Amino acid sequence: MSDFLNGIETELGELDAAGLLKREREIVSPQGAHVRVGSGDFINLCANNYLGLADDSRLVAAARGALDSHGLGMASVRFICGTGDLHRALEAAVAAYLGMEDAILYAACFDANGGLFEPLLGAEDAVVSDALNHASIIDGIRLCKAQRFRYRNADMDDLETQLRAARKAGARRVMIATDGVFSMDGYFAPLAEIRALAERYEAVVMVDDCHATGFVGPAGRGTPARAGVPADIVTGTFGKALGGSIGGFTAGPRPVVEMLRQRSRPYLFSNALPPAVCAAAIEALKIAEAGDDLRARLDDNAAHWRAGLETLGFEVLPGEHPIIPVMTGEATAAQAMAARLFELGVYVAGFFYPVVPKGQARIRTQMSAALNRADLDLALDAFAVAGRETGVLA
Ligand SMILES: *Cc1c(COP(=O)(O)O)cnc(C)c1O
Repeated sequence: MSDFLNGIETELGELDAAGLLKREREIVSPQGAHVRVGSGDFINLCANNYLGLADDSRLVAAARGALDSHGLGMASVRFICGTGDLHRALEAAVAAYLGMEDAILYAACFDANGGLFEPLLGAEDAVVSDALNHASIIDGIRLCKAQRFRYRNADMDDLETQLRAARKAGARRVMIATDGVFSMDGYFAPLAEIRALAERYEAVVMVDDCHATGFVGPAGRGTPARAGVPADIVTGTFGKALGGSIGGFTAGPRPVVEMLRQRSRPYLFSNALPPAVCAAAIEALKIAEAGDDLRARLDDNAAHWRAGLETLGFEVLPGEHPIIPVMTGEATAAQAMAARLFELGVYVAGFFYPVVPKGQARIRTQMSAALNRADLDLALDAFAVAGRETGVLA
C-alpha cells in the first residue's frame, strides 16, 4: 500500500510541477451572475448557466413541491421500482420539445453518451466520430464493438472520406457522432453538411447538444433546429442551461429509446433521477420553450461582451455562441490572467494543454442571461487591467 500511495503522490507532484493540477474554489452562494467565494463577491463568467435558471425561484419551487409530494429519492433503478410519474412526464416533455418520438433519462449526459453506442452498434457496424467530441462520446464509443472512424474537427471532406471507408469496410449500420457545439471554441458543428453526407452514405446522425439545448436555435430547440435539419438521435443535459442541476437524456425514434431501456448499461445499473430534479427540469423546459426574452438577453450580452473584448484589443475566437474564448497563447499567461481577474472580482477559468492544443491557451468566458450590462462593463475594465499586467494585451 505504501508503494502504491508513494507512486500516486509522485504522479500528483509531477502534475503540480507541470502546472496541470486543478484546484477547486468553494462557492458559498447559489450559482448566478455573481457568486460568493469566502467573503468575496465575484462576477461569474464561467458557468454553463446560459439562461440564468440555476437559482430560478420557479425551478426551486418545483423541486421543493416534488420533495414534499414524492420524497427524496427512488432507491431503485428504473426497471425495478424506480420509475415515477415525473420521470415519464420529463421524458415526454423532452421528446415533445425536441420533436422526437421518445426520450430516456440518465443520471447525467456523460451516462447518456456512455450508454448510447454499445446497445445500438455491434461489430458489423461503424461509428464515425468528430475528433473534438466530448470525452463521454469518446468513452461511449470505446465501450462498443463497432469499427471506429474519426474525422478532423468539422472537416466535411474528411467526414466523407471516413464514411466512404466505413461503407467500403462493409458496415451494416453507420452512425455519425458529433457535438452540436464544440465547447472549447464555441463553434457549431456544420449539421446541414453532415446531414447531406449522412443521406448520401445512409448514416444516422447523433448530436450531443449539451451546449445548445434551451438556448440555441428557434425556441431553444438546439443546433439541429438552428441548422434547419433533423438529427436522428440527440443527447443533452439538465446540468447546463436547463437549470444546471443534474441529469441527462437521449431523445430519438421510439425503437432506439426502447432498445436503450433494454440494454443501456448506465440506465440499467444506476439509480433513477430524484423526483425533485425531474420536476425542476420539467419547469426549465417550459421556461426555455417560452424563453425568447431570456435568449434575447443572452444574445445581447454575448454581442456586447464580444465587441468590448475586441475593442480592448483581445484576440477573441470568432463566432455566435455565448462561449467566447479569449486567447492568451501560453498556458502560464492564461493562468496568470485568471488569477489576476479573480483578485479583481471576476471569476473565470484558464484552459490549456491538454484540454486545448499547445500554444492555444485561453480564458473561456461564457455569457448568461443573468448577467447585466453593469456586470459586463465592470468585467471589461478588469480584463483591460489583467490583460495589460500579464502581457496578454500589448
Ligand atoms: C457537459 C457535457 C456533457 C456532460 O453532461 P453532464 O450532464 O454534465 O454529464 C456531455 N457532452 C458535452 C458536449 C458536454 O458539454
